Amino acid sequence: MRALTISSHGELDRIEVRDDLPVPEVKRAGDVRLRVRAAALNHLDLFVVRGLPGVTLTGPWPLGSDACAIVDFVGNEVVGLAAGDFVVVNPGLSDRTCEYCRDGEQPLCPRFGILGEHLPGTLAEYIVVPAVNVRKVPSNIPIAEAAAFTLATLTAWRMVVTRARVRPSDDVLIWGIGGGVALAALQICKQIGARVWAVSSSDDKLERAAGLGADELLNRTRVDVGKAIRERTAKRGVTVVIDNVGQATWASSLLALGRRGRLVTCGATSGPLVETDVRRLFWNQWSILGSTMGNDAEFDAVVAELRAGRLLPPIDSVYPLADGRAAFERLASGQQFGKVVITVDDV
Ligand SMILES: [Zn+2]
Repeated sequence: MRALTISSHGELDRIEVRDDLPVPEVKRAGDVRLRVRAAALNHLDLFVVRGLPGVTLTGPWPLGSDACAIVDFVGNEVVGLAAGDFVVVNPGLSDRTCEYCRDGEQPLCPRFGILGEHLPGTLAEYIVVPAVNVRKVPSNIPIAEAAAFTLATLTAWRMVVTRARVRPSDDVLIWGIGGGVALAALQICKQIGARVWAVSSSDDKLERAAGLGADELLNRTRVDVGKAIRERTAKRGVTVVIDNVGQATWASSLLALGRRGRLVTCGATSGPLVETDVRRLFWNQWSILGSTMGNDAEFDAVVAELRAGRLLPPIDSVYPLADGRAAFERLASGQQFGKVVITVDDV
């Protein structure tokens, strides 16, 4: 079968289309084989190509975490799914037996793994995954949006709804508008009715964010974000910060964060080490919250939104598998507004 793969870590020129991979077999009764229609890229895919500490891949390794697909074959114990169903895939896999899994908190599982990072990825004609990671969705949802939906929306949902518990009265600062998680967070916050402060280095992206409901627009190349927010809020600051940039934004995030504020982070694309003045942390009674991926209940919650036609992700561009490397280059450029998608079944 065809797949977009790497066989060694390095720059994006390591990415290659292969057509000689074996079709994976269903070996466990609870697994399903899916024929992938399209897969969307996430920042994680760039990290996988460049190499992550503690993760060893054996090539040729299919890339990709997100996917929409057609069910091809179901194991003996699978219920509620049949060949021909159109589905989306939750790329987070857990052992389902540890104390966290039994508590319904699969992303905390010590054996948690992500398709494309710890297990072969979704940029392949066929993948085998546990049926519990698959949900049927209406066949009229466009494949690019279905492919791009899960990882970003699930991650943003856990951050906004479960961790930060955003309410209509909240002011929410979202960094890096244009990225998948940031845009999903914007859409979820607007659905809740909160006020959103969007940050980007691009006026074009800010204008498009306004089109999605962003209330306040901040171009970080022209204003000091933390100071600007304090000025515009009579020094009160925002009540919630959604940050996946890390090192480069941390100081501004904390300057912008008001009393009793919650800062939730799911990533550190600019670097992992940050500085926090503990006195400001306790005096302002802040909550600093970590978040990653989502649990089964959150997967069900976001799939319900997708089935209802809500929270469809903005799509930046769609590439055929043969041009998969160009899709990665688009993501690495940082120019995109919305998700970069690769169609897998168009050959
Ligand atoms: Zn577990």
